[in-house]
Amino acid sequence: RRELALHYQPTVDLGKGNIVGLEALMRWRDPDLGPVPPARFIPVMEETGLILEAGRWALEQAVADFRRWQANGLHPPRVAVNVSQLQLRQKDFVATVERALSGAAGAAGVLELEITESLIMQDVEANILKLKAVRDMGAEVAIDDFGTGYSSLSYIAKLPINTLKIDRAFVMNLTRNPGDVSIVTTMISLAHSLDLTVVAEGVETLEQANLLRLLKCDEFQGYLFSPAVPAERIEQFLRENKSLPG
Ligand code: C2E
Ligand code: CA
Ligand code: CA
Repeated sequence: RRELALHYQPTVDLGKGNIVGLEALMRWRDPDLGPVPPARFIPVMEETGLILEAGRWALEQAVADFRRWQANGLHPPRVAVNVSQLQLRQKDFVATVERALSGAAGAAGVLELEITESLIMQDVEANILKLKAVRDMGAEVAIDDFGTGYSSLSYIAKLPINTLKIDRAFVMNLTRNPGDVSIVTTMISLAHSLDLTVVAEGVETLEQANLLRLLKCDEFQGYLFSPAVPAERIEQFLRENKSLPG
């Protein structure tokens, strides 16, 4: 019923303060209930299989938004789309991504897929093949919610990924909890030794951003810069070159 929308949350370079990525986050406004949080409706879509159709729509909508920004004379950074367990398990997963990117003159630099750490580690050998195939098409791959999924370190090194996103749980108390500083420092050095970009999720304060910069984290996402906002708002951000002050 066309009740779904994609909002986008910028990812920001910690050194330069500029927008370097956009994460597509699904929004549902029910006519009776109003906005329903993704944490409530996404699990139901996964149980019912509706996530296959909705996830395909999200991929196509994100590419369409990217193209529209380009057509309007902007230089959008790559858009990241979340991929659920049911989608990744489909035999035609790679074909679905290919279709979303098709018609794309130069599909490189358009799309990034976010896959949670716990999901990627299930059936890891099959996932490695699928992710290699989508990377060959020019899409990038990020591990989402890193730190929550009991990864085997021997697999992390083998995964065809570009980016590691540190879960918000480790960022939340970073400036108060020395234990979290140690964990985040270790994650950052692990990522860099594997030549991966590190993004910290859920950064809400300048203190957190400053500490993450000191720890050599590359990028962050969070309310400090912006929550997820409608596509028109992103267009404004890009036009104004919105960046983190200081
Ligand atoms: P996620 O992929 O880990 O997305 C990050 C969540 O953190 C988003 O919640 C975002 O709004 C929120 N967030 C961002 N910055 C901050 C911050 O500074 N503080 C706090 N407290 N929260 C922050 P959202 O949009 O409610 O999405 C929740 C989850 O729903 C996502 O977690 C993702 O797992 C799932 N989701 C959302 N859209 C999609 C989609 O299109 N497909 C799939 N498969 N899952 C989706
Ligand atoms: Ca995500
Ligand atoms: Ca996440």
